[in-house]
Amino acid sequence: MWNETHCDRCHKEVYSGECAVWVLGKFLCVTCYEQFSQEYADNYQWEEDKTMLKKEMVCPYCGCENGESWEVKADDGEIECDECGKEFMYCRNYEVTYTTWRKKDE
Ligand SMILES: [Zn+2]
Ligand SMILES: [Zn+2]
Repeated sequence: MWNETHCDRCHKEVYSGECAVWVLGKFLCVTCYEQFSQEYADNYQWEEDKTMLKKEMVCPYCGCENGESWEVKADDGEIECDECGKEFMYCRNYEVTYTTWRKKDE
């Protein structure tokens, strides 16, 4: 399974056991991954509908999802992205629903 041996970007050999990452179909050594994620964040085109009313918070800088959005306690505020480290604003949206039932027959 783990048969990649060279970084797709710097073509340096990645030894087994060394940290390397698969990202967007590329196999990268850690150094390149850091550069790549920085560039990716710089080039990411943010459109409002990419980050609006999502089940998880989506970073408006790099587009990654925060899988533990529910753990964030405050309903709004600032948060730092785990992937690119940039801070962004968020607010939690509540969907209001109603339940109805019949009155008991008398
Ligand atoms: Zn590399
Ligand atoms: Zn991010």
